[in-house]
Amino acid sequence: MAKKTSRAKTKSGGWSIATRAIHSGEARRRYADSLMTPIVQTSTFTFKDSKHIEDYTKNGMEHFEYGRYGNPTAQIAERRLADLEGAEDCVVFTSGMSAITTTILTLVKSGDHIVITDDSYKKTLEFCQSYLKQFGIGCTIVPFGDYGFIEKAIKKNTRLIFSESPTNPYLNIFDLVKIKKIAKKHNVLTLIDSTFATPFNQRPLEFGIDLVLQSATKYLAGHNDILAGAVLGKEKLVEKIRDLHKSIGGLIDPHCCYLLLRGLKTFPLRVERQNESALKIAEFLEGHRRIQKVYYPFLKSHRHYKVATEQMAGGGGVVTFEIKGNINDAKRFLDALKLCYIGPSLGGVETLITHPALVSYYNYSRKLRYKLGITDTLFRLAVGIENVQDLIDDLAGALKK
Ligand SMILES: *Cc1c(COP(=O)(O)O)cnc(C)c1O
Repeated sequence: MAKKTSRAKTKSGGWSIATRAIHSGEARRRYADSLMTPIVQTSTFTFKDSKHIEDYTKNGMEHFEYGRYGNPTAQIAERRLADLEGAEDCVVFTSGMSAITTTILTLVKSGDHIVITDDSYKKTLEFCQSYLKQFGIGCTIVPFGDYGFIEKAIKKNTRLIFSESPTNPYLNIFDLVKIKKIAKKHNVLTLIDSTFATPFNQRPLEFGIDLVLQSATKYLAGHNDILAGAVLGKEKLVEKIRDLHKSIGGLIDPHCCYLLLRGLKTFPLRVERQNESALKIAEFLEGHRRIQKVYYPFLKSHRHYKVATEQMAGGGGVVTFEIKGNINDAKRFLDALKLCYIGPSLGGVETLITHPALVSYYNYSRKLRYKLGITDTLFRLAVGIENVQDLIDDLAGALKK
């Protein structure tokens, strides 16, 4: 069992995560002695002479040949992310979804089967349920947290188990120790979408998970200004994914990698603040008479409080809650907010709030929505890095209405 340590504080190479987020994965002296990482804005790279070509093709000399096969700015982003996650290797993608789909496509072939938990990202579920079927790949969707069910769902041809942790919107926490044990027994790969946790709060690879997926769009880049994704794990597996990525070809551009690297420098600082603020907001909401229920993994009332506090360093920046009343009360609350922006996504510096019933699930029947737990008065707050009292005042003011 993982000890209740601040795993995020584990040092690698003597430096803590706050230092490595700024300095790792990059040569100390850079082009023109620049302090900042150069953006190598080129689609192709040149050879000095014929010897250089042969050193590259025959003698394994490192060289960037063509933009779709790699770029120095992207490589630095990959090395930094790998260092933060404690991974041997990493590939960056144009988005989190690109990382997820390319990874799954690399690992399965026709006739295979995968197991995925039911409160995964909507697009991930859609991809596994509908798209993979076209290639004869089976998919069983299992209820989150039912480990007996998961084990029963594993067949002879099951290749992998995929889950998020924490999940959206209820912030359920997957027990990584338990799932690793099941996966090992049946010899299947484990994939964790760790977007909500980030390597600051949890590093699934340390629990023996095979591959970690990240939507770097969220906390890692952190400024709501780019889309990016990553897969991280053992070199042998990641190299296969990189190969397919080169063929599929949706490569991230160097400028975007620069923005990702810039965002990463403050990522531990931001997530530390978001952990603190989210917990304070969760406690404030839990004590408010107009609140029905609050979901936050580091609140004692959360169904996965124990496993969360054992396996994670912090609860993250998302707080989900239900207000008392009906859909009209929910709309009035939303319309009365002055600081929180109404919008999807999470992990950025600006606080965002979404009302899943009105947005992601607007085309579902009310009955189906309620079956999925998406009630009329449910909100997901993605806490930014503003002053926490200002945020609490905004929420309190809107709840008064
Ligand atoms: C946003 C998100 C994704 C998709 O990432 P994009 O960068 O938007 O493609 C996948 N998983 C989780 C948990 C997410 O929050």
